[in-house]
Amino acid sequence: KNSIVPKSFLLLLLTSLVLSQAQPQPWSPLQAPKEIAKKLNHGPNSLLLASTDFGHTVHKIPLAVLNPTSINDISELIKFSKSLPNPFTIAARGNGHSLHGQAMAYNGIVINMRELNSHRNGSGIVVSWKAPLGYYADVGGEQTWIDVLHATLERGLTPLSWTNYLYLTIGGTLSNAGISGRSFRFGPQISNVHELDVVTGNGDIITCSAKNNSELFFAVLGGLGQFGIITRARIPLVSAPTRGKWLQMLYSDFLTFSKDQENLISFNKSKQNSVPDYIGGSLLLNHPPLDLSFYPVSDQPKITSLVTRFGIIYVLELVKYYNNESQKIVDKEIQEIIRGLNFLPTFIYEKDASYEQFLNRVYTEELALRSQGLWDRPHPWLDLFVPKSRVSDFIEGVFKGILLKQNLTTGRTQVYPMNRSKWDGRMSAITPDEDVFYVVSLLYTSEFDQLKAYQTQNQQILQFCKDAGIQIKQYLSRKETLEQWVEHFGPKWKLFEERKAAFDPKHILSPGQRIFIKQ
Ligand code: FAD
Repeated sequence: KNSIVPKSFLLLLLTSLVLSQAQPQPWSPLQAPKEIAKKLNHGPNSLLLASTDFGHTVHKIPLAVLNPTSINDISELIKFSKSLPNPFTIAARGNGHSLHGQAMAYNGIVINMRELNSHRNGSGIVVSWKAPLGYYADVGGEQTWIDVLHATLERGLTPLSWTNYLYLTIGGTLSNAGISGRSFRFGPQISNVHELDVVTGNGDIITCSAKNNSELFFAVLGGLGQFGIITRARIPLVSAPTRGKWLQMLYSDFLTFSKDQENLISFNKSKQNSVPDYIGGSLLLNHPPLDLSFYPVSDQPKITSLVTRFGIIYVLELVKYYNNESQKIVDKEIQEIIRGLNFLPTFIYEKDASYEQFLNRVYTEELALRSQGLWDRPHPWLDLFVPKSRVSDFIEGVFKGILLKQNLTTGRTQVYPMNRSKWDGRMSAITPDEDVFYVVSLLYTSEFDQLKAYQTQNQQILQFCKDAGIQIKQYLSRKETLEQWVEHFGPKWKLFEERKAAFDPKHILSPGQRIFIKQ
């Protein structure tokens, strides 16, 4: 009953399997080096997993799944493909939390990166110290951020930059950017890497950093898996706080809300202690279901009536971390931070959470959604970076003009600003061309039979931005044509193409992104 995929997909999988067996393949696994061939899995369970992801909007069946036991296996597989007259495609699959089939490889090989974890013999996450770096962790590309959190907290240490959800792999998020309400201050995760080990599309195993093999290093960060497979990342660590004061404040007007958010992210370094550690934002829309779980039950009716009255309530979320030493002053710091903010009087709520509780908060939601059978539904998410100069036009046109006028449930919606100065322009990741831009994430959960309606709505939103001349950039997106990718990369496209020619000249890697290959 709670099957993760509908029967129609299972049927499609079976039919495709039969058809793909009947079609001549460009190569046979029997040709593969023996060491590789024996690690290729063709079983239906493996193929099913490799042709599914969190989005449930795209399904592409590979020929086989490689369960690597070493980095060398990955290199050998790539070299084998490259040696063929018609190379097959290869996709690294981290935790399969892509939204649009980005970790799939139709008729190619999907590498189950998580398998490496079973062969690391305890070396998957290693914490060390050396001058001048200080503390850092060497982390396998297949490791998850939740495991990094646990391993580093054991030493009282932590990475600086996180995603909101931690069951994602290091390779998966570093291929995109890895963003959250921490990024305004410390940049995305791709801005917090000292060094990488990468297996390129030539099969070479290369260590790279901003100083050594820097072209590969910057290509891979935010490079959508196009240039190489990350097998190790060296991540800076700092002393970990133990707890956080976690606040939410409500606004009825977007301009006031965004002005406060922007003031908070334009921190002044001399006042380092009163800088928030996390600035997020979300919207409460007059569209069921309304998630009010953060607020005391006694206040929920009056918040509901605010939402009914204004249509949209904007929630500014702020966290200030503390530890034993700073416990006494944290409340004073909070007062200093919120002084001058213009939220609706009295609509301010505070929780005290452990550091891990806060960082791993989405997992609590995951468990609740799983128990209702809602986690494995399609997720036609739309994640956008919107330039600050046009964000209020976006909110007006998209939320009031499109979303609230339709009958689709809106799901969770995030809106928070970032400083572009924290992103290194040499990396492959793309942002709007303004010093401050907003992350706007529409995180819908759809019924299988409503998917088309959500996809149409997403197209309407993108068309609205185009017509209104709002220069958005999509994050984690799927594009239909090469022209759309060229437009996405803008002036960086030429460099992106040159890097592809250098590091994956046969266009073997990450076909699910549909940049150099149609699949
Ligand atoms: P996969 O889906 O397995 O792979 C993603 C892409 O990376 C594919 O192209 C794949 O080929 C490539 N890849 C995978 N491993 C490697 C590797 N080792 N080397 C090179 N390429 C590789 N993103 C954010 O930035 N912030 C968030 O807060 C956030 N929250 C999320 C919450 C949920 C519930 C979900 C489902 C996604 C969220 N994401 C977020 C998006 C997420 O970061 C990306 O989808 C990410 O790619 C998922 O990681 P994964 O390990 O599952 O990657």
